[in-house]
Amino acid sequence: MEGVRRDVISGVLGFAILLAGVSRPAAEQAGSPADGQLVLTGATIYPGPTDSPLSKGVVVIRDGKIAAVGRRRSVRIPKDAATLDCSGLTITAGFWNSHVHFFERKWADAANLPATEVAGQLEAMLTRYGFTSVFDLGSPWDNTRRIRERIESGEIPGPRIRSTGEGLSGKGWLPLEMGFMLRVLGVMQTESLEVEDAAGALAASKKLLDGGADGLKLHAASQFPPHATLPDEVIETAVKEAHRRNKPIFAHPTSRDGLLAAVRGGVDIVAHTTPPSGPWDEAVVGAMRQAKVALIPTLKIWIHHLRHDRASLSVERARIITGQLRAWLASGGVVLFGTDVGGMDDYDPSDEYALMAEAGMTFRQILASLTTAPAETFGESGRLGRIAPGLAADLVVLTGDLSRDARAFATVRYTIVNGKLIYQCAR
Ligand SMILES: [Zn+2]
Repeated sequence: MEGVRRDVISGVLGFAILLAGVSRPAAEQAGSPADGQLVLTGATIYPGPTDSPLSKGVVVIRDGKIAAVGRRRSVRIPKDAATLDCSGLTITAGFWNSHVHFFERKWADAANLPATEVAGQLEAMLTRYGFTSVFDLGSPWDNTRRIRERIESGEIPGPRIRSTGEGLSGKGWLPLEMGFMLRVLGVMQTESLEVEDAAGALAASKKLLDGGADGLKLHAASQFPPHATLPDEVIETAVKEAHRRNKPIFAHPTSRDGLLAAVRGGVDIVAHTTPPSGPWDEAVVGAMRQAKVALIPTLKIWIHHLRHDRASLSVERARIITGQLRAWLASGGVVLFGTDVGGMDDYDPSDEYALMAEAGMTFRQILASLTTAPAETFGESGRLGRIAPGLAADLVVLTGDLSRDARAFATVRYTIVNGKLIYQCAR
């Protein structure tokens, strides 16, 4: 990606959005692009999940980075900068959604889709909810990389995208073609990387990582009974190859056996809770803790799958999955926020936040799962995850009160990536 401009939003569309909500000196309104300075005033600011909030705070953005953050009196506001009045609003670091998919048919032929259409799709799925960074855990990599290139070139406003490309699965599992019939009606036909031994795992891992994928994703167990698990040598080989290149490796656990096999094999991130396994006992939680994995709970999608079933089944499932998350939290485990959108066409994360709160997460823990935890897990904490001088100006401005209601995380007024306003709520 060398030489590609990271200025996310210098295109006509982006500039129009930028001007809509920002008051700026007359000289700039005449048409010269922003001078790289933007000041957000008046908000309650959470610099990080464990910090005391700064009331009536100020964030100064310069050249895509945070130049200063603090209370009004302690920050010098540059005279000629554009300002955005955020009085009564809350500002946090930009959110990560660490489990998304760009495999719905709407993303096909991404190199040639009209820019406005791609921008609209990115907004509907991600940026209107404050997601400034996402990890795609399974999609046609050659297509997803086109979306990313068009964002990074500045043509289209959107989030930072990382992707595992196509996931690895067992021989004959065909998780997409055979699978998910109803759920994935609407998904592109994707090559399935089926592996059955160490040699196959090494070849598939090399192909993906040589091709530029940012990590690997394993289906540790088949979606369908009897839920065969990947051989240990497959998992261990893929893990070794990912780690040799300093890349993360995710597992879709499916079952208790799949989860334990993935953890035993050394994966870094468990991409789901596991409703079919029932409650997680000490053997499961202890193995996960010992392996120092991070967990992406994806609670809402499990309820979404039961939307045509009796309500009592959803109630029972919610009890199991929030119980799994509660057990993980009690052990001190790391949680990354993720919803599996793309695999679910209801993109609103509100219910995910509510379910996380039901499992016992405080709003500060949820904020960590959206910001510092993914930044640390993916080696980006020197650049992302907090509002601090020198870090990238990825920010979310919210209307709701986080300390009162977890769903307030979804009340996004503005989304800012690299100092550029890429979404604002029409109200
Ligand atoms: Zn998924």
